[in-house]
Amino acid sequence: MSNIRVRFAPSPTGPLHIGGLRTALYNFLWARKNKGVFILRIEDTDQKRYVQGAEDYILEALHWSGLIPDEGPNSGGSFGPYRQSERTGVYQKHIRSLLDNGSAYYAFDTSEELEQMREKRSEQGVVSPKYDWSVRGEMNNSLNMSPEELKAALDSGNPYVIRLKVDPGQTVSFKDIVRDQVQFNTNELDDKVLLKSDGLPTYHFANVVDDHEMKISHVIRGEEWLSSTGHHVLLYQAFGWEKEMPQFAHLPLILKPEGKGKLSKRDGAKFGIPVFPLRWDQAEGEEPYAGFREFGFLPEAMINFLAFLGWNPGGEKEMYAMDELIANFQLSDIGKSGSRFDFDKALWYNQQYILQRESSFLVPYLRRELDSRSIRAPEGKLQKVCELFQERIQTINELWPASYYCFEDIADYDRKPLKKKWKGAILEHYPAFLSAIQSVSEWTATEIEGAVKAFIQSKELGFGQVLPILRLGLTGTMQGPSIFEVAAVIGREEAVRRLKSAPEAFNSVLSNK
Ligand code: GLU
Repeated sequence: MSNIRVRFAPSPTGPLHIGGLRTALYNFLWARKNKGVFILRIEDTDQKRYVQGAEDYILEALHWSGLIPDEGPNSGGSFGPYRQSERTGVYQKHIRSLLDNGSAYYAFDTSEELEQMREKRSEQGVVSPKYDWSVRGEMNNSLNMSPEELKAALDSGNPYVIRLKVDPGQTVSFKDIVRDQVQFNTNELDDKVLLKSDGLPTYHFANVVDDHEMKISHVIRGEEWLSSTGHHVLLYQAFGWEKEMPQFAHLPLILKPEGKGKLSKRDGAKFGIPVFPLRWDQAEGEEPYAGFREFGFLPEAMINFLAFLGWNPGGEKEMYAMDELIANFQLSDIGKSGSRFDFDKALWYNQQYILQRESSFLVPYLRRELDSRSIRAPEGKLQKVCELFQERIQTINELWPASYYCFEDIADYDRKPLKKKWKGAILEHYPAFLSAIQSVSEWTATEIEGAVKAFIQSKELGFGQVLPILRLGLTGTMQGPSIFEVAAVIGREEAVRRLKSAPEAFNSVLSNK
């Protein structure tokens, strides 16, 4: 085992967005590639934003996607606990050392006092007033108290927070694997709260402490955390942990399907596409968020699609199974600019992966559709239908709407092609056509095809006059696999019944505007 240890550190504040899953994927790939360890850490110290069920959702989504953590709340490991809410003792110990070495201080300011400070600074023309080096000398904190005053304040039981003391006039810099050299001027950084008045750590503090305690080698996370990294680096310095500081890689944004702006959870409903791996039911009366799984995606297709949102190994090849992703993944091949969430591309991937599987994998999905409608059908028929339709679908969910007419009567007829084709010579020859079909000797695709072709020749008709009518009469639509195969699957009795009643059905569709 190498010393590469990476973590995926979601906060259970809702379902895992597809961007979060990409972060998990890149961490997973980097761990596997380096024979390292992939850790799941649940960052649940913000009690106000905690959402019931979110942690289970995250675990299920990772499992479905094949990104199984080596260490985590449900996987064990010797660096636990892996839920931050169970690690308060660890944070208490570490905050002590920062207080002792003067990098952190107690602040007793009430919300009114904080508000007054902001107002005053705004009046002085400060654009976004912060609690920082420029104001802390005037505030109610331990930097301005004698040891006796501090003791009295602590003994009084008044609420307090603990803040990081950021010294002005310095440059914090670090090298990001994706963005290269990143710099912050400490004049711009506020004295971040490290420990809240409820005794729980903030994200920044817990995140840095845990990355250190869990011996994380690479922090791979979304770009939205880049601006926090200045504070994180200061924290490593305050602890004296600079030498063991992890390397950072901040991933580019995932952009909306039209290319502008960050993909948001609301874009799913807006564009009728999933932006979550799994469905998430929101509160009563609100639309659930659609998931890739429920949309009929194969996890391997979603993973291949996600891998390419921000990473590219170069070359033409686009199909990468998980083991190939692992073999080829490099953090240095992650791009800086955002990637468009191109759902058509996701569908294309899914189609490719559906085609790669044995068609029989579709049988259980079809069986479920049939069962839900109490339709009985022999296994062999299901096999055949899956074989015929496998190459015609982009998602598993399309299988039933595409093939339903093999099992139940036509739901409706496509008017447009009917209007074009149900006219001229075929009307006159239809009775003869019907008897040609009825006298097919053996009801197989080959025999049916032979009979239809012989009929076409004998009447000197064109294929384009007869085959569309056969197809519309049997299926109601112009889309579908070989119509002779379809006719064979439907069965002689049902096919003849449909073709007998077709003229009446056609005419009625055409007479309705
Ligand atoms: N808890 C943060 C999140 O929800 C983790 C960010 C990080 O990886 O540092 O995304």
